[in-house]
Formats: sequence, C-alpha cells, structure tokens
Amino acid sequence: MKVVKTAAELSQLRAKMPAPLGFVPTMGYLHEGHLALVRQAKAENASVAVSIFVNPTQFGPSEDFRQYPRDPLRDLALLEGEGTDLVFMPPMEEIYPPGFNKWVEVGRLGRRLEGASRPGHFRGVATVVARLFELVKPDRAYFGQKDAQQLLVVKKMVADLGISLEVVTVPTVREPDGLAMSSRNTYLNPEERRQAVVLYQALTLARRLYGEGEKDAGVIRRRMTALIQKEPLAAIDYISIASVETLEELEEVKPPALVSIAVKIGKTRLIDNVVLG
Ligand code: AMP
Repeated sequence: MKVVKTAAELSQLRAKMPAPLGFVPTMGYLHEGHLALVRQAKAENASVAVSIFVNPTQFGPSEDFRQYPRDPLRDLALLEGEGTDLVFMPPMEEIYPPGFNKWVEVGRLGRRLEGASRPGHFRGVATVVARLFELVKPDRAYFGQKDAQQLLVVKKMVADLGISLEVVTVPTVREPDGLAMSSRNTYLNPEERRQAVVLYQALTLARRLYGEGEKDAGVIRRRMTALIQKEPLAAIDYISIASVETLEELEEVKPPALVSIAVKIGKTRLIDNVVLG
C-alpha cells in the first residue's frame, strides 16, 4: 500500500495503477461503514484509492472541525488490511493552495435539510470532492447512503460539470442495535449512546407505518417526533419526508421517498435516513 501526501506523488503513482480505479473519499477515523465502501470498491475495480482529509470548508464556524477525531495510524492499518492500493493524505495546502478560489456552488438541493441547518456545508463538500476527483481521476467513486443528501449533491455535481466517472451508492452500515456507524458516535457517553438508538427506532417506525398503509407524511412525522421526544437527551433538528430527487417535502408519501432526520443527543448531532418504497 502506497501512502502519498502530495498531488505530484499522487499523479506519478496514479498513472501506473491498473484501470478501473475505485476511489473512496473519507475524513478518516475509519469504521466498518467506511470499510464497506472500500470492500465494494475493491470488488468492483482493478485498483483502489482512499483519501483521508478532514475538510475545513464543510464545517461551520461553531462546528467540530478542531475536535473531529483523528487516528491516521489506525486508519492506515485498517486500509492495509482491506488491500487498499493507495492512500492520499494531503496536507491542507495540497487541497487549498494559498489564494485558492475555485468553489463549486450548490443550488437548491444544497439549501435543504443539512444545508438549511449547516449553511455552506455542501459548498465545502462539493468543492473538496471536485478537487479530489481532479487529483485522483477515478473511474468510480463510492459514497455511503448514510449521507443521502451528500450523495445527491455529488451526483448532481458530476452530471452538471460533466465529470466522467460513476458515483456508486453503498448501503448504510449499522451497529447491532441499529445505530448508523459514524465517526461522531465516539463523542457519545454511555447514556447518550443508549439514547442514540432512537434515531433508528424513529426511522423503523416510519417504515412500519408506511408498510401498514399510512400515506400521510404529517402523521408519520408526528409519530416519529413523539417517539424521539421520549428520550430526555434528544433534541430534534429536523424530521423530513421528501422526494428522493428534489428533497422537497411531501404531504402524501409517494415512493421512493427519503425519510431523513437530524437529532442532537446531548451535544452530538447525528443524522440517519431510510428510503420508503
Ligand atoms: P466521512 O468520513 O464521514 O466523510 O464518510 C466518508 C464516506 O463514508 C461517506 O461517503 C459516508 O457516507 C460513508 N459512510 C459513513 N458512515 C457510513 C455508514 N455507517 N455506512 C455506510 N457508509 C458510511
């Protein structure tokens, strides 16, 4: 496994990697969710590259950029174990050279849900992903369904900018009790960790109600709200039942619909989603 830090080293090695190249962008502190992406990339491509870069431009000023968990040595050992061919761990100035001023602006899709709660978040995501695509030049790029809106934004950007690669969706990997794996789960204390399962329980409730014939999105949202509010440490940011394409809120559930939620458990903000239909 080659580990490179600069764009120059990357481009030299990239030229020798057998095609097709599968690419997994991450912010590190890897868990089984990330490794599922790497495994799928490995199964579907002749070579696999992974990037580890905690991207400052997708964090708001009062968010957790500085505290975001980092453990590069452990990450490298895990990636080596999966048979990764190349890891790109750029320092800040490789991605954002002095005077950098080439932003990818995201339209309406990026202003809903996570974008409404985290202004500028998707501009940062789209910009770093475009930069990484430009440097790594993958044939396929792997993203988790866990970040459903990020996937939509990246797919739209790839189509709008005519970037020639395939974006592949990988299902959400969960803990045995249903909590979606996330690097941020490490912030939870034992009591918060116990209550955090309520996100998955609320999504499961939505799926059950829909399965029983409930089509009124308002009814489903209210039942989910009531369930989450039973946990004293949980504070709802949003509960959304929206079109999977436009992310516009639905009054009547028409499949496929994206049910997505953001909930703070104590100080930790968690997101999760399921698709109905
Ligand atoms: P991050 O390091 O949080 O930026 O995540 C890197 C990639 O891993 C993104 O495409 C995420 O959607 C994906 N990912 C994170 N958690 C999970 C999970 N529990 N299941 C599947 N994919 C995930």
